[in-house]
This record gives sequence, structure tokens and C-alpha cells, in this order.
Amino acid sequence: MPPNANFRAGLETIAPSLVPDHPERHVYSILRELWLRFFADFLEAAFSDSSNSPERDSKMSQSQKMMRELRSWLFAPVEPLTTADALQILTEISDQSTQEIILRSVGKRSHRGQPASKRHLAIFALDAKYVFPHLTQRAATHMLCPCGKGDDQHSDKCREQMRQQINRAVKLLRTFGYDFTWERIGTDGWKETI
Ligand SMILES: [Zn+2]
Repeated sequence: MPPNANFRAGLETIAPSLVPDHPERHVYSILRELWLRFFADFLEAAFSDSSNSPERDSKMSQSQKMMRELRSWLFAPVEPLTTADALQILTEISDQSTQEIILRSVGKRSHRGQPASKRHLAIFALDAKYVFPHLTQRAATHMLCPCGKGDDQHSDKCREQMRQQINRAVKLLRTFGYDFTWERIGTDGWKETI
């Protein structure tokens, strides 16, 4: 096998472990399958013979864009590095330029100034809705809202944020042909539309 084919085969082998499998989570699993599909598209373009063609570059960047979008729904955002964590890591690294990179990343989110994304919670809410079609958004908020308040203490703002994220998740799923409208599931149950 040429070295490139080996490399590609290696990436294909590790792909499923990059997005852990949770078969008990229906909506997560749909998004995970889509991520793997875009990853396969990315590899297809990356290892195609037509190197340096604009078409190949655009295919690669389109796939990467979709992979980033899907990841933002699949997983909780990575927490910013705290000073204590950074110091711990620094004691284990002797290379000075690596130390500097770590120091610069303390306290920074990948998108500076934005609050931590709650997209992954909307996917948990839809997974729960799949299992309990009569789940209300109020109950989903009580179950998942990360604001730290106890049961029945969540504000209208908590519920509104959850509602908006769920609507955005439903919209994303619709672009891939899945109808996951909250109210409809409550009355009709889940129907596969593609
Ligand atoms: Zn809350």
C-alpha cells in the first residue's frame, strides 16, 4: 500500500472513536452518522488525485464546516483552561515554546466573548423527547438547564434559552430531512421522514 493509502486507512479506522457511539441516544446518533459521512467526504477529497484543484479545496472546506457545526451540537464546549490546570501541565513540559502556547490559552474560549454553547443540551432534550413523547419543554429545562438553580426555580429566561436552542436543533435536523418538531412528536410520536 502507498504511504498515503495507509494514512487514509488509519484515519478511517479511528473516525468512529472521534465521535463516541451512544446507540441509546437517537438524535445524537443521527448527528453522529452525519458527522461520519462528512468526515468520509473530507477524506475522499483530501486523498483525491486532483491536488491543488479549487474544487477539491472547496469540497474539503465545506466538509470541515459541516463537521464543526455538527460537533458543536454533539458535545459540550471545551472549558477554558484555568490557571491551576495550566500550571499543572507546565510542570510536565520542558519545551519553552509549548509552555508559551499553553500560557496564552489560559481562560480563553475558542470564540472569545461568547457564552459557552448550550447546543448539546438541546440534543439531550430531543433525545429525551424521543423516549418520552409527552415531555414538556418546561420539564426538559428543569432536567438540563445548567444555571445551577434547583427544581422549579428556573426562570422564563432559562426556558426561553432552551426553547430557542431546541428550535435551532430542529431546524438543523430539517435541513437533513428529519422532522423533529417538538409539538408534533407530542401528538404523533416520532416518524422517520427520510
Ligand atoms: Zn436555569
